[in-house]
Amino acid sequence: MPRFWVHTFGCQMNVHDSERMESVLQSQGFVAAESVEAADLVVFNTCSVRERAEQKLRSEVGKLKPLKRERPELVICVAGCVAQQEGERLLQQIPHVDLVVGPDNIPELPGLVLDQMAGSPPVARATFDVAAPRFLAVAPAPGQAPASAYVTTMKGCDERCSFCVVPYTRGPERYRPHEEIVGEIAALVAAGTREVVLLGQTVDSFRDPGLPPPESDDPDESQFPHLLRAIAARVPALARLRYTSPHPRHATASLARAHAELDVLARHVHMPVQSGSDRVLRRMIRRYTRAEYIERVRRLQAARAGLTLSTDIIVGFPGETRAEADETLSLVREVGFVSLFGFKYSPRPHTPALKLADDVPEEEKSERLARLFEVGEEMTRAHLAPLVGTRQTVLLEGASKGGDGPGGGVSHQGRTERNEIVHVELPRGVAGAGAIVTVEVTAAFRHSLAGVIDPVSLSGLPRRPAAAPRRSLPVVGSEGP
Ligand code: SF4
Repeated sequence: MPRFWVHTFGCQMNVHDSERMESVLQSQGFVAAESVEAADLVVFNTCSVRERAEQKLRSEVGKLKPLKRERPELVICVAGCVAQQEGERLLQQIPHVDLVVGPDNIPELPGLVLDQMAGSPPVARATFDVAAPRFLAVAPAPGQAPASAYVTTMKGCDERCSFCVVPYTRGPERYRPHEEIVGEIAALVAAGTREVVLLGQTVDSFRDPGLPPPESDDPDESQFPHLLRAIAARVPALARLRYTSPHPRHATASLARAHAELDVLARHVHMPVQSGSDRVLRRMIRRYTRAEYIERVRRLQAARAGLTLSTDIIVGFPGETRAEADETLSLVREVGFVSLFGFKYSPRPHTPALKLADDVPEEEKSERLARLFEVGEEMTRAHLAPLVGTRQTVLLEGASKGGDGPGGGVSHQGRTERNEIVHVELPRGVAGAGAIVTVEVTAAFRHSLAGVIDPVSLSGLPRRPAAAPRRSLPVVGSEGP
């Protein structure tokens, strides 16, 4: 049986795509290798959102050159966004690469690999499935469903933000029929999943003729709120529902109503803002102003008491002045984000922003990023510290890396419905993954909490050998659009 190894770079979408690759490979008789050296197939699932991720890919693929020289039958595949962006060129640029497979060509992966193993010449397959979009579901083995699972609802993006290569690498928006989404969620929940995270580049732009029409003529309205309602109604055993990443444009009044109606929706939304300056937002082609963004997130917060927000921000966009960077810092404070992801702008191929001069010096970008992180950490601390002494409902996701807790038990990680990470310790022989427990918070760290499981919750947990920790794929980098 051929053995595979998958390296993942980039965002949650790529992590999820890697799971789909594993799934299609396994369905054709491939098995996971214990190490890259033991593999017959190595797949690099790549990210081109930032220049650094692309450079990292080229360096990681380069490291396999000696192994390929030693074992010419080893198949090296580059998949994901760089594969889509570069296509055939990659085969010329990195001659020890055998296969280039775009995100929409994952279903063809096993066949293409077997062809390579049978001696076919190197090949690039990177075409969008615009006419007949395919969405592969990850099928959990009985009892192996993760506590929290991603479910794809759409792919591609029609927004064309001026800094972003995703519309080029992932193609136009295509939506998965809601029946398929509901079916996959029902199967996951039946297999033990408690939380689902709906995944899409602009997850809240969802459309499906099979759902009722949007609730108003507002062009920003979508049928996403109807999708949320359909999931809540038809999979009542689902404990928590999240979504990522929404575009602020579609955070309409009807989405706020869904948050008010549906208890299953988590009280946390990750809503990328990118900048707090109207001039920069306009040049980024984000299609909202600072005031509109604030109005939209306030509406969500008004719909659901205690709803928290996190965000993505780019610093050093072409032409961004120091005063405009300061406007972003003031927005972070004004909105009160409980966490944020910050990135330095880097020019990407095929993006409209290439026409603008990348004129913020690298040192200045680093300085702006450092100031952003300082403010972000201050906000996170101010949010987490008052939670010490409170009781929180926590979904346990599985054993933490390292496993052993200071009290002789096993360390587990979980999340509250507001997405705060909580570390707890379970006695040995107690199964934790997938359980929802009450935790008394005893300490706050930089980005997480620690606590003690309430004795009543603890006594309700099954006394059997601990479930396997949540399956995690090797992930390189953590950047997203
Ligand atoms: S940043 Fe997001 S919304 Fe904008 S083009 Fe990229 S994927 Fe689309």
